[in-house]
Amino acid sequence: MFLSTLLNNREHNRQANGAGAVPWSLQGTGADDQAPRPHRVVVVGAGNVGATFAYALLLSGLVGELVLVDANRERAVGEAMDLNHAVPLSNPVRIWAGDYADCGGADVIVITAGTGQRPGEGRLDLVKRNAAIMRDIVPRITEYNRQGILLMATNPVDVLSYVAWQESGLPPARVIGSGTVLDTARFRYLLAQRLGIDARNVHAHIIGEHGDSEVPVWSMANVTGIGLETYCRRHGCELNAEERERIFDRTRDAAYEIIERKGATYYAVAAGLLRIVESILRNQYSVLAVSSLVPGYYGIEDVYLSLPAVIGRAGVEQILHLPLDPEETQRLCDSAAVLRGVLDELDRS
Ligand code: NAD
Repeated sequence: MFLSTLLNNREHNRQANGAGAVPWSLQGTGADDQAPRPHRVVVVGAGNVGATFAYALLLSGLVGELVLVDANRERAVGEAMDLNHAVPLSNPVRIWAGDYADCGGADVIVITAGTGQRPGEGRLDLVKRNAAIMRDIVPRITEYNRQGILLMATNPVDVLSYVAWQESGLPPARVIGSGTVLDTARFRYLLAQRLGIDARNVHAHIIGEHGDSEVPVWSMANVTGIGLETYCRRHGCELNAEERERIFDRTRDAAYEIIERKGATYYAVAAGLLRIVESILRNQYSVLAVSSLVPGYYGIEDVYLSLPAVIGRAGVEQILHLPLDPEETQRLCDSAAVLRGVLDELDRS
């Protein structure tokens, strides 16, 4: 009777946590032998972005195990302690400061390790420093895990996702960059502010590089399915070329502005990472503008950049081939050329 109540509770908790979490009372009793193993996410880099993502993940109830790995061990231990103290107030997640061996069995390994963008510094300037870090980290991960999904957030995210893919030897579907998920959110937010509509009903993508050459897809922007131009015409909110340009400029340059003001950006990117991880763990097939290896669309290949992609348990399940207008296609190709140029430069260095 007692055990069956426990098992019912276990099932309840398992479902409440998106399948996986085992309450402590059952650990080591053998009663959980048949239980599906808890979802494990490892975060490599427990700095601003890594710790904020870890906090969002704890509150989400998506995982049963959360591991923080950082070159600065004290930082990882401190963050794990702080997060653990929120467990009684949120979800039964096992959280610890670990090592690369803990990547074994992880469903997703989120990489946020590296140096941040310094004030006034372009993302591409970061490339050499952070590429060296990836060449150190990725083999240490794949030594213990060749089944999970690598999710890169460190900048420049497109270049480093490509480096991580090459270093890992994993199929490209399982090496994903957070790409323009963040820029797309910023774009939707700013458009929604202008239109006076809930941002969740404003759909518009930023594609290409997560950075200066990114491309707004105005031709497909819509409000709950109504094309932006039609929406504006019918609802008296003219959005002229100048205003569009201003909205896009503020989207593209948001990181610079936030970094000038507070030194780093982390809340929105953490929310973006959470959204990607949720779609992976729950096999949601959500469409998200992640960075992935482009399969020859628009003549672009051998480069990672963002296009809306279907994200599920296997990682990138499908990349959408958008019907871009000629100007957008050209800008996307230019963005790909910028990224290929950086990869070539990196190869030569
Ligand atoms: P941070 O300096 O706060 O944290 C970085 C952490 O990485 C530090 O704790 C550091 O000790 C650790 N680290 C450095 N080298 C390491 C190594 N070799 N192994 C393990 N850990 C190591 O920086 P942050 O603000 O968290 O930013 C992290 C990265 O995320 C930066 O590259 C930043 O540009 C990027 N970022 C990306 C997006 C995006 O949309 N993709 C958004 C914001 C920030």
